[in-house]
Amino acid sequence: MKTVAKKEWADRLLYFEERRERMVQTIRELVEIESPSDDKSAVDRIAVFLAGKFEALGGKTAFHRSQEFGDSLQIDFFGARTAESNRKPVLLLGHYDTVYPFGTLAQMPCICKGDYLLGPGVLDMKSGIGLVLHAIEALQTWHDGLPRPVTVFLVSDEEVGSHSSRKVTESLARKSAGVLVLEPAAGLRGAVKTARKGVGEYTLRVEGVAAHAGLDPGKGHSAIVELARQISVIAKMNNLREGVSVNPGVISGGTRTNVVAAEAAVRIDVRIKSAKQAKGIDRKLRSLKAFDRRCKLEIEGGINRMPMERTAGVAELYERAREIARELGWKLGEAAVGGGSDGNFTAGMGIPTLDGMGCVGDGAHAVHEFIVISELPRRAALLAGMIERT
Ligand SMILES: [Zn+2]
Repeated sequence: MKTVAKKEWADRLLYFEERRERMVQTIRELVEIESPSDDKSAVDRIAVFLAGKFEALGGKTAFHRSQEFGDSLQIDFFGARTAESNRKPVLLLGHYDTVYPFGTLAQMPCICKGDYLLGPGVLDMKSGIGLVLHAIEALQTWHDGLPRPVTVFLVSDEEVGSHSSRKVTESLARKSAGVLVLEPAAGLRGAVKTARKGVGEYTLRVEGVAAHAGLDPGKGHSAIVELARQISVIAKMNNLREGVSVNPGVISGGTRTNVVAAEAAVRIDVRIKSAKQAKGIDRKLRSLKAFDRRCKLEIEGGINRMPMERTAGVAELYERAREIARELGWKLGEAAVGGGSDGNFTAGMGIPTLDGMGCVGDGAHAVHEFIVISELPRRAALLAGMIERT
């Protein structure tokens, strides 16, 4: 791989500086097409729009259809010359679904305020997709065609667990040299993400024995009382120092105050830092025993996203990214975060993965979600460099 001289990096930054307004425009277009995960027709609309954008750059597009969720979009770009085309592709992984219900844009319009661009999904992660479009266009200009094959995979259901897209993500990752995830950078200093916690979702159901609370209290075996005792056991599984958190987040149960409850349930969110912790928590939850022997326990669910651990492959990609940032004149940090992403899947398979390659901002999933406009040029230059070097 030919190395790029210092002057060239400065030129690259300048290239994106000159296109800053165009980048903002691209991102704004994407934010203004609302695409909540649970609204298939809305998500399909942005998929078609993006397919058009990528085809205009010469990408070969294919939809991965889903009945329940929106369609996901795969785009393949081939290397410009034969030797380069023989390299394995780099996989750029993103999602176009958002957590905002349809109509949010009316109260939360996409607007510029000083150096900020605000709007639903602007940071997580419509701006990340905008970066991909501009980085690919730039590489095609600089190299007279792409210097290596690139696969872009944009997922329709990341915010709700990626159930319809996960298999495709994994099969594309298996064929790639590495994965760059366009999730937002960590913090306002723009660190990339080299570790993420794994995420599990469980439901514990308790079946008790109903009875009239006034006439036959002794005959009842309360599912609610049993559940309460189980929850105190579950809460003790927290080990914040080791990075394990277990949150009984939603409870339900019972029918009337004068009935000993026959049913109760709790939904639990689990976060873990390592595969070993995942196994340990899973085993503990599955071996819960009823205090009241007339109550039955049933546990459902499991670990959905395994942790993204900072493997040697991850560390090496970070090292390359740091080198590029240095040439661009800035110090790129790394961060370990609690939230999961599709990067957890690919890193869990042992494929070198670097996450947080998207934009800099704050307020993901919140009313003040924004990106920092002046950070766009160097994020695009970093992404372009990593497409070459992964
Ligand atoms: Zn995201």
